[in-house]
Amino acid sequence: MAGEVNLVWNYCNELQMRVFERERKLLSGFDFWPYLKGSTRGDCALHLPVQAVQETAERYATNRSTHKRVRLAWRKSGGSRRSLGWVPFKVRTIKYAHGQVYFAGRWLSVWDSWGLGDYELRAGSFSEDARGRWYLNVSVRVPLAPRAAPDARSAIGIDLGLKDLAALSDGDKVAAERFYRDLQPALASAQRADKKKRVAAIHAKIANRRRDFLHKLTTALARRYAAVCVGDVDAAALVRGPHAKSVMDAGWSAMRTMLRYKCDDAGAWFVKVPEAGTTRNCSSCGAHTGPQGELGLSIREWKCSACGTHHDRDINAARNILARGLAILEQQFSAAGEAKAGEAAMNELATHVAGGVGHGPLVAGSSAL
Ligand SMILES: [Zn+2]
Repeated sequence: MAGEVNLVWNYCNELQMRVFERERKLLSGFDFWPYLKGSTRGDCALHLPVQAVQETAERYATNRSTHKRVRLAWRKSGGSRRSLGWVPFKVRTIKYAHGQVYFAGRWLSVWDSWGLGDYELRAGSFSEDARGRWYLNVSVRVPLAPRAAPDARSAIGIDLGLKDLAALSDGDKVAAERFYRDLQPALASAQRADKKKRVAAIHAKIANRRRDFLHKLTTALARRYAAVCVGDVDAAALVRGPHAKSVMDAGWSAMRTMLRYKCDDAGAWFVKVPEAGTTRNCSSCGAHTGPQGELGLSIREWKCSACGTHHDRDINAARNILARGLAILEQQFSAAGEAKAGEAAMNELATHVAGGVGHGPLVAGSSAL
């Protein structure tokens, strides 16, 4: 089925390229539907349910538009650089009973660490990791805890970064490389000896440690604070080179995803804050006295020339993110009244949850098959 998903994906990619050549037009997910009609019927029909074919096309269109590209990379079903297996599904195409998931005419056994029977299963995907293990990623409906308006004391700002994974507005920092420093010698020797399985296993171990750490950190933050404000930074703007970028992206988006749902669960506000200018502004007086541009990237600490405050670059950014996040919340509250703001935020969150299933193994809520 994963091979068929790749086929559909690549078909969409090729179609998009041709249409763009001819008409300079970009296709939406719906635009693909007529072309895919009948692909699941007849002699050489795909085994995928038709909804999975549609979902693949829609996900292709979304990915293409978020990456602002005319075409995407091909998904490869074989060879050393093959794409890890991925099969998306829509709402109401899987069902769960007695420890198994029913999908596309077959029952699949799941190691269920979450008690899936208690939830209504929505859209999601099956995905494979580098070691060939398969995961079920699925969004579920959960009731939201009631929330009160936060103030500066009960809220925290988080600046996601390269040097440190995160800097917090309370002055703490979370180092990024702590997950694998002690595994690096083993990794290097396995790579030299060209032991592919061992290399994959160590990478998986690093990923598991990072995930475990992120879970603990985000749970603590969501429980402790009434509002959590996070910068909207994406790695594309900061890192060159495909590998480093994907690693940072995975960490940042995993952390935001976890914070979002854990805040829902704990009754805290989650605010994604536009990050532009948060490094440049002094969090004490607001003057634009901080480091900026390419030259400013190496400046870790600075003193504000307007008010004389000594700043750590990232902590200052986290404080600005906190102030902006609180301003965003305040706007929501004053614009619509408390009740309405709560409702709007819930609706917004509901949309995010529904559309929040990532491509590839999603850290949150995974159960190993
Ligand atoms: Zn200042």
